[in-house]
Amino acid sequence: MYRLIDGKEVSNYIKSKVREEITALGEKGIKSTLAVIIVGDDPASRVYVNNKKRACEATGIVSREYALPEETSEAELLALINELNDDKEVNGILCQLPLPRHIDEKKVIDAISPEKDVDVFSEINVGKMWVGDYDVASCTPKGVIELLDYYGIPLEGKNCVIIGRSNIVGKPMASLLLEKNATVTICHSRTDDLSFFTRNADVIVAAVGRKRFVTADMVKEGAVVVDVGINRDDNGKLCGDVDFENVKDKCSYITPVPGGCGPMTIAVLMKNTLAVTKKQNNV
Ligand code: NAP
Repeated sequence: MYRLIDGKEVSNYIKSKVREEITALGEKGIKSTLAVIIVGDDPASRVYVNNKKRACEATGIVSREYALPEETSEAELLALINELNDDKEVNGILCQLPLPRHIDEKKVIDAISPEKDVDVFSEINVGKMWVGDYDVASCTPKGVIELLDYYGIPLEGKNCVIIGRSNIVGKPMASLLLEKNATVTICHSRTDDLSFFTRNADVIVAAVGRKRFVTADMVKEGAVVVDVGINRDDNGKLCGDVDFENVKDKCSYITPVPGGCGPMTIAVLMKNTLAVTKKQNNV
């Protein structure tokens, strides 16, 4: 019998802990502020930004939204980021991706001061994660670790297989699993015989971006399956990268979509905003 990993419960727990610390900082006269930049009117980005604002409200973090029109130039966006880098009232900065095509995302990521980079996209912060000396960790992968920790799922010595090697999920996921003393394999679109790896995995983290890609025959009996994917099925309904209905009965633990990894990403974002605020105030 599988156990469902409840991302809503764990994210609420993390946010309540963040709220306690934000309240304690407030008593010392320290405020935590997150600046959220959104360019254009992509509906999915708007949903994510609204969810982040709601999480700020729930944790007591002040959110400042900068909604810029689609035609904003790269120079204008970079100028705003510079201004926010210098603004002592702003502790964390994030720029919602994707950006309109005429703006170079890498330039924008590089422009955000690493001290305020709560998404942990900057080269410095990614490097710090890899050497195990960091205050903030990539939101989605750290969210996965928080889920596994909350349920007491052991990782040490376990065979963990990640499907996907993106900079925001797959690669930092590997770093955090290694830190937990797991044995880590990263698979991708050029992997030969993917099932060979997944069938031998104690833990599978699917971050592919393809609906119901992980099927029951790819999963070992008793495996832990974490589904990072967010896709829409043919009826427009949200679904993950895992064929949940057919895979679940083989698992010891499995995350649903929605309600698994999704809420965790934002909870870790709140945790990161708290962490940078503490660091900037020498707390
Ligand atoms: P991405 O940048 O598109 O990366 C997808 C990865 O999957 C790539 O490394 C790709 O391999 C690999 N892949 C594609 N087809 C494959 C195949 N047939 N066999 C094996 N590997 C394959 O996506 P991402 O940004 O990492 O996101 C992955 C999923 O997670 C998406 O559904 C996204 O919406 C979701 N997501 C969720 C959250 C959250 O908060 N829960 C956060 C971020 C992302 P190559 O490198 O060889 O192309």
